Amino acid sequence: MIKKIIAAAILVGLVLFLIPMGLRQNAKPDGGGSGDRTVPTDTLLDLPKSGHALAVQMPDGTIQNTDLNEYLWGVVAAEMPATFEEEALKAQAVAARTFALSNTEKPNHPDADVCTDYACCQAWLARADAEANWGADAVEKANKITLAVSETADQIALYDGAPIQAAFHSSSGDSTQTAAEVWGYDAPYLQAVPSPEGEEVPDYHTTVTYTDQELKDLVQEKYPEANFGADPETWLSEPTYNTGGTVDKITVGGIELSGGQARTLFSLRSACFTVAHADGTFTFSVTGFGHGVGMSQYGANSMAAAGSTYTEILQHYYTGVTVEDCPDWVWASLKAAQTGGDDAESEVVNE
Ligand SMILES: [Zn+2]
Repeated sequence: MIKKIIAAAILVGLVLFLIPMGLRQNAKPDGGGSGDRTVPTDTLLDLPKSGHALAVQMPDGTIQNTDLNEYLWGVVAAEMPATFEEEALKAQAVAARTFALSNTEKPNHPDADVCTDYACCQAWLARADAEANWGADAVEKANKITLAVSETADQIALYDGAPIQAAFHSSSGDSTQTAAEVWGYDAPYLQAVPSPEGEEVPDYHTTVTYTDQELKDLVQEKYPEANFGADPETWLSEPTYNTGGTVDKITVGGIELSGGQARTLFSLRSACFTVAHADGTFTFSVTGFGHGVGMSQYGANSMAAAGSTYTEILQHYYTGVTVEDCPDWVWASLKAAQTGGDDAESEVVNE
């Protein structure tokens, strides 16, 4: 089961890379630049150590004591295409660092600070795997990731002086979503803000279709109490929408579903959808990919391409935050979480 999840995480990581990589390489035969600086294409840059170690549960289940910067390199490589603009990669590095240092609850792996499963912590790729995926451009792409991590060293996003929950997703419709509407808890920095990405995003618009019978079977498998009348036109209600444009509620066979539940049930890439019925078929038209809360990765890349810095990108997507060197008390609480656990945990961290 765990292996399956890890395999899925790796697959998603690869898909995230490969699709946009192909698209952007067509647009920029040189593999993309990074603003006004030149990234070495023949010599690998050194990644400086952060001086802070994390216990990372690897895809094979082992726990490895890893320097924070090294861990972040693997997260940025897995979470964002290396062809993206340097300022977008930096925004991702800061979001990933913030997540790693604020995520002290770790019920799935009490002996590790973080794991490499995107559904639990953040996606992560071993350097050798990332470089193998990149092929001929591996040195330049590795250097872009190295610069994103090293040039934002120790920086995190703070709200009211505390690290934020740095949620991010692949792409949004016109706007991101509020955490309150999608997850049911309010975070002042996770509000609905405009997001500039559009048709340049691979599979930005997708459709998913079900025949009447397929839809009925799918819903009744999950909700046996669902009740479908003779006329399919009456099976689905008109959805209601959140502030940011994703579905808030939709009633299916008399069962009220949240946008997120409908997204999962009908295998949609996001809850930003409309649905139509014609000729015995339901058609879901979907925009974007992901939950829509926090930073949009493609939106970050659009902002960077238009000249925004990583700090501006982070402050756009996380309302009211500052980007600063990680305060001492946050490092101290990481240490305390690492040494304050049971003996097994201390052994791992101190080995
Ligand atoms: Zn985890």
